[in-house]
Amino acid sequence: MEQKEHVECLIIGSGPAGYTAAIYAARADMKPVMYEGMQPGGQLTITTDVENYPGFPTGVEGPHMMELFKQQAVRLGTDVRYGMATAVDFSSGKPPYIVTIDGQKEIVAESIIIATGASAKWLGIPSETRLNGGGVSACAVCDGFFYRGQDVAIVGAGDTACEEASYLSKICSKVYMIVRKAEFRASKAMQHRVMNTPNIEVIFNSETDEVLGDNVVTGVRLNNVVTEEKREVAITGFFVAIGHTPNTVIFKEYLKMDDVGYIITEPDSTRTNVEGVFACGDAQDKVYRQAVTAAGTGCMAALDAERYLSAKKASETM
Ligand SMILES: Cc1cc2nc3c(=O)[nH]c(=O)nc-3n(C[C@H](O)[C@H](O)[C@H](O)COP(=O)(O)OP(=O)(O)OC[C@H]3O[C@@H](n4cnc5c(N)ncnc54)[C@H](O)[C@@H]3O)c2cc1C
Repeated sequence: MEQKEHVECLIIGSGPAGYTAAIYAARADMKPVMYEGMQPGGQLTITTDVENYPGFPTGVEGPHMMELFKQQAVRLGTDVRYGMATAVDFSSGKPPYIVTIDGQKEIVAESIIIATGASAKWLGIPSETRLNGGGVSACAVCDGFFYRGQDVAIVGAGDTACEEASYLSKICSKVYMIVRKAEFRASKAMQHRVMNTPNIEVIFNSETDEVLGDNVVTGVRLNNVVTEEKREVAITGFFVAIGHTPNTVIFKEYLKMDDVGYIITEPDSTRTNVEGVFACGDAQDKVYRQAVTAAGTGCMAALDAERYLSAKKASETM
């Protein structure tokens, strides 16, 4: 083990939430140290055009936008480092806490901001991977706009899939909703909404055999799991809405989470159930999952951490 390093504010994760937290923490003189993790810049580094982040009237490429976030955080004094948090010890219930980086270095942190995001679940078929970015997407709200007036398909059977199908139906000509079983998993209200939308066609008992197209999506081949019949549907956009996995497993022993692994924060706050530990972005948001909301909660986390540290210092000097 290397020697322990003491930091006032440790930020874990370098997506929009982490960088926004870093900008605010640096300006509040908290000398933030950030570990970027396995995907420096976060999820937006795997997309091309971001058209819904305010301040970019003609859109911006995801990797470029995240480079701008980084430049701003670094200019204001954030110490950005490559590395993964591999273990945490919150057992004392009061900071400082020890966070292990890459299984080697130990950081002793007075406050911690968790901004580790979430990863979309995929079907795991080769054509889905090959055409990712060429018409395959895991975010209808982010990418639906690029398929306006076109025919698309969405895979999934839960509330999120129904909500995204409904969102797409307002932009696209036709939405095929592919459901593996003979019924939805979604609430009755969401099912009702989907079934009553004229341009959504639900295809039950079907799984995706292959997404078709050389460089861009041109269709999808479905397999009926009951009859084994194959069917091809012409589409230009293929959306996967089968859930997300929050990157929160290393915190599981200590933090309150829902059954999927989203960190539960106090209402109107980013405070977790552990003193001095704050959570922001997609790691604690299963509802909105957008860059701008992640940035918003990143700001909140830095303000919460700053107020926590100030109150603690004030009580220590009394
Ligand atoms: C293909 C695609 C396109 C999208 N397009 C849009 C769009 O157009 N507009 C929009 O608003 N949103 C879009 N989104 C959603 C948006 O990217 C997310 O809502 C946003 O990135 C969430 O930000 P975040 O900071 O919470 O997490 P993320 O961006 O997921 O970043 C998480 C960070 O945590 C790090 N990390 C994880 N575990 C560890 C660890 N143990 N130690 C250290 N670091 C760790 C990762 O390396 C990463 O840097 C898109 C998402 C995808 C996948």
